[in-house]
Amino acid sequence: MPQQKNHSYDVIVVGSGASGGWACKRLAEAGLKVALLEAGRPQSDKNFTEHKPEFELKYRNRAPEIVRKTRPIQVKFGVCNEYTFNWFVNDLEEPYTTPAGKPFDWMGRLRMTGGRTNVWGRVSLRFSDWDFKAASFDGYGENWPLGYKDIEPYYDLVEKYVGITGSAEGLEHLPDGQFQPPVPLTCQETLFRNRLKEKLGRTVMPARSANLTKPINGRGPCHYCGPCERGCMTHSYFNSAFTTVADALNTGNCTLISNAMVYKVLMDPGRNRPRGILYIDRNTRQAREIYARTVILCAQSQESVRILLNSATPQYSNGLANSSGVLGHYLTAHVRSGGGSGEFPAFGARPSLGGPVKPLGIYIARFRNLQNAPPYKKFLRGFGYEGESSTEFNWKAPGFGEAYKKALLEPRTSIGITGFGEVLPRWDNFVELDPSVKDTYGIPVLKIHMSDGENERAMIQDMGDSAGEMLEAAGAKNIRTYAHPSAPRWALHEAGIARMGSDPKKSVLNQFQQSHDVKNLFVMDASGFTSNPCQNPTLTIMSLAVRSCDYLMSELKRNSI
Ligand SMILES: Cc1cc2nc3c(=O)[nH]c(=O)nc-3n(C[C@H](O)[C@H](O)[C@H](O)COP(=O)(O)OP(=O)(O)OC[C@H]3O[C@@H](n4cnc5c(N)ncnc54)[C@H](O)[C@@H]3O)c2cc1C
Ligand code: SF4
Repeated sequence: MPQQKNHSYDVIVVGSGASGGWACKRLAEAGLKVALLEAGRPQSDKNFTEHKPEFELKYRNRAPEIVRKTRPIQVKFGVCNEYTFNWFVNDLEEPYTTPAGKPFDWMGRLRMTGGRTNVWGRVSLRFSDWDFKAASFDGYGENWPLGYKDIEPYYDLVEKYVGITGSAEGLEHLPDGQFQPPVPLTCQETLFRNRLKEKLGRTVMPARSANLTKPINGRGPCHYCGPCERGCMTHSYFNSAFTTVADALNTGNCTLISNAMVYKVLMDPGRNRPRGILYIDRNTRQAREIYARTVILCAQSQESVRILLNSATPQYSNGLANSSGVLGHYLTAHVRSGGGSGEFPAFGARPSLGGPVKPLGIYIARFRNLQNAPPYKKFLRGFGYEGESSTEFNWKAPGFGEAYKKALLEPRTSIGITGFGEVLPRWDNFVELDPSVKDTYGIPVLKIHMSDGENERAMIQDMGDSAGEMLEAAGAKNIRTYAHPSAPRWALHEAGIARMGSDPKKSVLNQFQQSHDVKNLFVMDASGFTSNPCQNPTLTIMSLAVRSCDYLMSELKRNSI
């Protein structure tokens, strides 16, 4: 391959999503020269279509088979549709493999500035010491090498900038944050909240979500149009493309290099330190090198670990920074194939095709295996639920003509909830390189080995059963529950394959997401998570990235890396 050279930077950041955006902002605002390598195209407000009606689309957003031709995996999650599909990876050009009998749908692979934050669900929850120190409570796995007090100031900092709407609930295991005013609950959600507290002592709250209810930094409050996954011209939800990355670029210290598909970290011969990155320009297919004193991988868990595995050297023959042999192992991702729904009184709500749409619903806090109760016998750890109420037309009304039109307007008001459960880190859930398959850029791809264990199966069953119990306690009618303990694995919240730990023999990164082996190499996405608590991960990903950048800067100042 012909190689072209570029000039040097203080730091190279790979990936412009949740973690990479924050790394660039923090470092560039402090005066460091940062190169941001992003495999995707630049994002722009011109691409946002949240107000575009379906009838203006060629296929009226009714032809998933068109999307399926190039994105057969991505289309399985509804946010990849006729509006957005070209933001997503082309599954045929950038494949991965799985072993027989262990299917795994790796969805949400974005190729735009902002990464997954373009389309994410925005639920933003803190972890607590019930998560960081879970191994001390139940004896399973490893504690994180940091605790709640270490990350708390960074949660505060990130929440204030991102803008998280939410309510203070005073739960020790789901700490309150720096909230913007909450989006009010609907009447049905209020009834559900009150009855669950009264009858079962469980907490239902307005979802804590990265949607603004007050303006900040030139971003307007949400005007309830609904489809955030298609972008937002008023920048009312958090997307790193128009927040952290934009701030970093505005400093003049950060250079965004788009369409840069990173292949490997380049090591300095004879010295145990990276000197830069080798990437493939996606447009020209030419290989390029770029140099810096420090490399930070923020490409999303599997992608960052793929880069490390592809960066093997004679010294690190099984993957860069992998003297422990742990790299690629302990893959975790939430299980969410249990839940339920039920009908509630309408309380005067009327169905509408054009009314305001709340972009967030409710969250039910974890209630298993916590303080003040004996351990739950069927499984370790716990799960929470995301949910929402909806008021629909009575599409299934019998009859036709005038009578049907009238019946159609009778509202069908329901609440649906879906469990999000912790998956225990296990050695035999792992990723490795598949020596027989390369992507369209000539880069070896990942083989992903992932399946659920007994703990996950028991938890999924309980998600369904508990959903039924709660809907019944709230007085819902026509309750339907589901639990699919053997559903194939899929994920949007993957973590843990370059885990943090205090012992370099059992972990890849230290508590600042710095490689134990190679001091000026950091991995600041969720690969460093020692476990994957049931709360959604991104608030913690961002807060850890800021904390690790502060550590990196102090180390650079001391000249110790
Ligand atoms: C539909 C959906 C809903 C979600 N809902 C929630 C939610 O409600 N709450 C929550 O907390 N989380 C949610 N998530 C997860 C959340 O989006 C991720 O946790 C978060 O964005 C991960 O941040 P990251 O920086 O690790 O990676 P990303 O945000 O994915 O960014 C990674 C970037 O790296 C780039 N990249 C990858 N490989 C390379 C390479 N080799 N070279 C150069 N660049 C590369 C990608 O193009 C991408 O832009 C959701 C995700 C999806 C897809
Ligand atoms: S619902 Fe709110 S945050 Fe979402 S796209 Fe509309 S205005 Fe933006």
